[in-house]
Amino acid sequence: MQLCYKQVWNKTEETGTCRVISLTKKERILYPKPRSAFLLVKCINCGAEKVIFSGSSSHIKCDSCGQTLAVPAGGRAKITAQIIKKMD
Ligand SMILES: [Zn+2]
Repeated sequence: MQLCYKQVWNKTEETGTCRVISLTKKERILYPKPRSAFLLVKCINCGAEKVIFSGSSSHIKCDSCGQTLAVPAGGRAKITAQIIKKMD
């Protein structure tokens, strides 16, 4: 446990084994990297449009039909819907 705290305060690379480390991950989400963006996507199943965040860490489903639009993949979302455009 002491090792976990040391890693947090020194902000070293996370090992993925400590719960405390995930707190620093949340801190980073408050300051998104420019590479992340809001995307306007179209559901490939029913055609409904939805704005999603490319850095989302959770599953995003279509409001209309429940089709999965994005799945978390290593901190960034893997978009499984058709991307129409990038929002500012
Ligand atoms: Zn849909």
